[in-house]
Amino acid sequence: MRNVFELDKPREECGIVAVSGSGAAAELAFLAMYALQHRGQESAGIVTVDESGKSRVHKGMGLVADVFDDEVLGALEGTLSVGHVRYSTAGGSSLRNAQPLLVQYEDKPLALAHNGNLTNANQLKRSLARDGSIFQTDADSEVIVHLIARSRHRDLDGKIDDALSQLVGAFSLLLCIGDTVYATRDARGFRPMVMGRLGEAVVFASETCALDIIGAAYVRDVEPGEVLKVRDGHVESLRPLPPAETSACLFELVYFARPDSRVWGCSVDEARRAFGRQLAREHPADADCVFAVPDSSNSAALGYSEVSGLPFELALIRNHYVGRTFIHPTQRGRDFKVRVKYNPVRELVDGKRIVVVDDSLVRGTTSSGLVRLLRDSGAREVHFRVASPPVRSPCYYGIDMPTKEELIGSSHTVEEIRQHLQVESLGYLSMDGMRDAVADHGPFCDACWTGNYAAPLVDLDRSRALQTV
Ligand code: AMP
Repeated sequence: MRNVFELDKPREECGIVAVSGSGAAAELAFLAMYALQHRGQESAGIVTVDESGKSRVHKGMGLVADVFDDEVLGALEGTLSVGHVRYSTAGGSSLRNAQPLLVQYEDKPLALAHNGNLTNANQLKRSLARDGSIFQTDADSEVIVHLIARSRHRDLDGKIDDALSQLVGAFSLLLCIGDTVYATRDARGFRPMVMGRLGEAVVFASETCALDIIGAAYVRDVEPGEVLKVRDGHVESLRPLPPAETSACLFELVYFARPDSRVWGCSVDEARRAFGRQLAREHPADADCVFAVPDSSNSAALGYSEVSGLPFELALIRNHYVGRTFIHPTQRGRDFKVRVKYNPVRELVDGKRIVVVDDSLVRGTTSSGLVRLLRDSGAREVHFRVASPPVRSPCYYGIDMPTKEELIGSSHTVEEIRQHLQVESLGYLSMDGMRDAVADHGPFCDACWTGNYAAPLVDLDRSRALQTV
């Protein structure tokens, strides 16, 4: 039977960048994408536009460093660039869906890079298709291009406003039309985007680590609902989108963003340490040492060590040359990948009572594989700690999560999960504890833990309704 929680389109994780007003626009986008590689490892692409209005594009499957070399970058002439890294599931993995999308709009190139998932993309697609639109990709983002092209507004700014106001869900969007860049975030601001300056050039990127790598100064976040227009280094604010309560993704702070970035106005490293400190208060353990499941849990484990007084050890070593555990299609494959990805330092584990801190538990496959490895290395007691609450509901706003049925926290109690993992104790950070740890920031989207979806799930509701007739 078809799973009603499954949307029949790709779920995507992405990183985006745009550079306006630099003779080295392609190189800068490449470096920024290199820093954003953690946001998407499946495809990478850059579009450039030169001063005569000519566009160039290069896209490929794989990592940024594999897709681009000096020769390719050298050919991407232009003073404006838009770049995108992408990871997607549910059948969307092909070069056809790689971004930026590039089309010819009237007499100008139009390039688009999108981070987030639209929750009404199927509805929009159906109605556009009825009116004669032909789609070239499965990506949500293509509807935006059609909405702009079909808008009856006379001027371009109005057409963009018209298109954006029909979108529901999550979008941090970089759009270039001719020599102009538009940067915008949905009114709830689910996904991040920052603005920086490098000399005369203006740079937009998903995270500040992308500004750091090119030496650009952080100027500010693009605000939820804001529509910025950049031309010749001049930044103008257009009419904002209708306001809505901010719903910034808290999972960015837990897992997705890099710890050296500032996201939602706070240091990701500091947020994770605060989660770890609170976890130690809520779930202490009588143990010999604490260590992280590297790398996403390092800061949280340091926070746990700080409050518990347990020494922090580097007892799990991660092989950095292995792709994501999520990529493997079968359970057997995924278990094997845990062993390929992590190896314990036997001397630090053998005969010890250990606290293992992970940032999140999604399917529970990584953790159960890890516990087996640690037992094999002689761990006497394993106390598993998770620096976020149980993930119970899938994300429809741009974090790749499995279906509800595959989320171990949606159908099992903490005690059942403890038994499944075969550990002496299991403790998750509480929802209140997590909110308190970042109380100076937000408001946040916590849908993956609470099931409270701020933006309507238009396509999902429709597909559920169709299932029941
Ligand atoms: P699981 O085996 O499904 O429980 O995976 C949990 C591990 O995957 C945690 O260590 C997280 O660091 C990591 N993780 C959490 N969310 C994601 C995601 N969206 N994509 C890839 N890895 C993730």
